[in-house]
Amino acid sequence: MKKTIIIRVCEIFLKGKNRFYFLNLLEEHIKKALDGFTFNFTKLQMRYLIDGFDDFDYEAIIEKLKKVCGIHTISPAYSVESDYEKIKECAIPMCEDWSGTFKVETNRADKTFSIPSVELSRQIGGDILSVYGKNLQVDVKKPQNTLRIDIRENGTTLIYTEVIKGVGGMPIGSSGHGFLMLSGGIDSPVAGYMMAKRGMKLSSVHFHSYPYTGEAAKEKVITLGKLVSEYSAGMTLYVVKFTKIQEAIHERCAEDLMITMMRRFMMRITERLALKYGGQSIITGESLGQVASQTMESITSSNSVVEMPVFRPLIAFDKLETIEIAERIGTYETSILPYEDCCTVFLPKYPAIKPKMERILKEESRLDVESLIDEALSNVEIIRL
Ligand code: ATP
Ligand code: MG
Repeated sequence: MKKTIIIRVCEIFLKGKNRFYFLNLLEEHIKKALDGFTFNFTKLQMRYLIDGFDDFDYEAIIEKLKKVCGIHTISPAYSVESDYEKIKECAIPMCEDWSGTFKVETNRADKTFSIPSVELSRQIGGDILSVYGKNLQVDVKKPQNTLRIDIRENGTTLIYTEVIKGVGGMPIGSSGHGFLMLSGGIDSPVAGYMMAKRGMKLSSVHFHSYPYTGEAAKEKVITLGKLVSEYSAGMTLYVVKFTKIQEAIHERCAEDLMITMMRRFMMRITERLALKYGGQSIITGESLGQVASQTMESITSSNSVVEMPVFRPLIAFDKLETIEIAERIGTYETSILPYEDCCTVFLPKYPAIKPKMERILKEESRLDVESLIDEALSNVEIIRL
């Protein structure tokens, strides 16, 4: 009896010609995520098997796999010799904590195994009842518990009860490279996770207003970046000093357009960094109408300064829906730590809700936009997470 982990991929992505490309990429990411552990890796058709690890690493390996984009489900399993007595011996203790209803489901790929699947399910079900019959009843339609037996062609059988949901989506690197505008808030880490889930390689850009925002605020963003990078198979964070640009806007432009102007600079700088470091798109955590800077007009104004596609995966989300994901992926606790973001510095009392493009351009013409951008770009801190 050997502890094994079954990893499944979603078949939908694997129908076409790209099948081997996806599978090879995913294999690479699984091995990278498990770097430092000892294990054997077996590739089956739509599944992978992992075994040969140290027992005490078992839970840690499963936790790592839960963050690999492209994995749809994970099952902790046992592998035994395909022999009735061996299967029974392994299966019975696996049902020890069960109560209510159950069924046994068998898949027999090895047709030389003497007992047909329905018959084996019935027999093992009977064996389970003979031990735990007091607490259990069979229900083949809607059971509370299921024991699955998978008789493989190589003479071994996999037995498992649990199917853990993985991230789903596609392996990182199969959908281009996006530059995530990462603030210290709740939304942008979730936006990054969502694009990573679709297979996008991520880099991130943070705008920092030292000394208005302190070292702790930057550390918070680094922590958030690390949490996102667990899903994105690593990530580089570019920290841009934004103070000078903010001061220039504050000094020379209309107060109510402060945030609109800042957003336009952030977008331009992010696009330049993406162009320099191989990115093809920008990702933000914006959600339509959430705040003044996220109205249709504000988004139009910030969008119009860049040519790259801008992905806003949260655009139609309510805050509570975003929080739900932030909690699930483990970024929420860090996001709500009370450090200032650069956008709270020089925050206007009455920000423009529907900024007019003509007015924005006129106000912006008071600034030397290009040299402010060049200066910011000349002093970017690069952190590999
Ligand atoms: P978040 O929770 O992501 O901070 P938010 O609801 O607070 O979002 P805003 O502060 O208006 O919204 O920011 C909108 C988006 O602009 C963010 O999701 C993020 O992508 C980007 N952004 C805002 N501030 C910064 C920053 N300091 N550095 C990088 N990107 C930023
Ligand atoms: Mg914010």
